[in-house]
Amino acid sequence: MIGKLNIAIVGYGTAGQALAILLSRDGHAVEVFERAAEPGPVGAGFLLQPTGLQVLWQMGLLPAALEYGAPVTRLYGETPDGRGVMDMRYQGLDSRMHGLGMQRGALFTLLADAWEGIAGLHRGTRVASVDHETGRLADEHGRKHGPFDLVIAADGSASQLRRQVSESRVDRVYPWGALWCLVPRGDWPWAGELRQRYVAARKMIGLLPVGTRPGDDVPRLSFFWSLPTSDFDAWKERGLQAWLQQIDGIWPQASTRLQGIIDASQLARASYRDAIQKQWHRGRLVLAGDAAHAMSPQLGQGVNMALMDAMALRDALRDEARVGDALARYQRVRRRHVSIYHFWSHWLTPLFQSDRDVVAKIRDMSMLPLGRLPGGSGHMLRILSGTQQGWLGKLALEPGFIAALSAHRTPVSPKETSFGA
Ligand SMILES: Cc1cc2nc3c(=O)[nH]c(=O)nc-3n(C[C@H](O)[C@H](O)[C@H](O)COP(=O)(O)OP(=O)(O)OC[C@H]3O[C@@H](n4cnc5c(N)ncnc54)[C@H](O)[C@@H]3O)c2cc1C
Repeated sequence: MIGKLNIAIVGYGTAGQALAILLSRDGHAVEVFERAAEPGPVGAGFLLQPTGLQVLWQMGLLPAALEYGAPVTRLYGETPDGRGVMDMRYQGLDSRMHGLGMQRGALFTLLADAWEGIAGLHRGTRVASVDHETGRLADEHGRKHGPFDLVIAADGSASQLRRQVSESRVDRVYPWGALWCLVPRGDWPWAGELRQRYVAARKMIGLLPVGTRPGDDVPRLSFFWSLPTSDFDAWKERGLQAWLQQIDGIWPQASTRLQGIIDASQLARASYRDAIQKQWHRGRLVLAGDAAHAMSPQLGQGVNMALMDAMALRDALRDEARVGDALARYQRVRRRHVSIYHFWSHWLTPLFQSDRDVVAKIRDMSMLPLGRLPGGSGHMLRILSGTQQGWLGKLALEPGFIAALSAHRTPVSPKETSFGA
């Protein structure tokens, strides 16, 4: 076992937050450097998969997450004329399994409250470079920090530090992005489902139940609207009314949820990157979260992967005698899981966000039947739940976790109970 280390974490997003908790609990001295003066959640909500929920369970945070989040049992996508395109239910894997929609603010607060070493958070400190040999950091004002035994770059999808580790096989901005916000759930009928509507792959509306957050009891939905990032400014210039009418034409029920949207600034812009690294570590520097493996959010895995990275790195530091061996092991374990998601993200994202109409037509005709083929639905469900490992492997979930998940499970609407989840 490696002794107690001085560890710097760059970035206080989900990966940085989870690492700070886990490594402090193991007795390491942890300092976190975050560029935001007031660290906090960015964006609306997300879907936690069983893999990410299992990490929260291992951290003792599952009950709190379930208290605020909304259980999600089904992912359903359709065209505006009501033709089903995608229909996946977690119960196809295990009747006790489900995802959890959460507000970003809820997870941020749970993780912030669980880190007793919060005094070690350097706010408003953008790290400009890391010396991987000495473990010293330099911030944007030229101030030096360290040396540290280990520096973890968890600085997100647009990481400036990943290139200090190795060349990237891929590192590019995806041409499509999204506008998103939280809206009150009200009488939304699908309280246990992620629902989406598509017009070819050019337009997509998504609504995900995300429950409540500390200090705000109003159950909410995370609203998602897809568009090319080059269209962000033109969207604003065209005005909100024209856009709301467009939503109403595609999905009248969804537009009723947007009654509180009166200004374009209520919607946050999101853009995404694909990044595949040749190496995840070099000397004392290692990557975690989106910094290690950014991909489009179409498969809903990024937060889950950030949590899994944190747990895998903690375990490797526990089990190996030398830091270098621990980092090599961490990279091996996590890459085995992440690589298949890079593959599917690359091929599936244009099916939902692109101007390829023929591809979208093929999607509309084939996705449902493919999911019904022997073996097809199992693979798709494992991809969805985060439990696919390579092409053939499965990531086993612990029986204790599944029991804990199902013990808290309560049906959220009469509609949901009707399909027996
Ligand atoms: C529209 C959208 C929907 C999504 N939906 C889902 C979903 O349903 N399920 C899911 O699992 N994932 C989803 N994701 C992906 C998920 O949000 C990310 O994968 C996840 O937040 C990555 O966490 P992270 O900690 O690696 O990075 P981040 O959360 O981006 O955190 C990085 C932190 O580093 C800080 N930072 C950056 N540079 C520096 C620097 N130089 N010095 C100091 N600090 C720095 C940033 O300020 C930030 O706080 C979605 C993403 C988007 C955009």
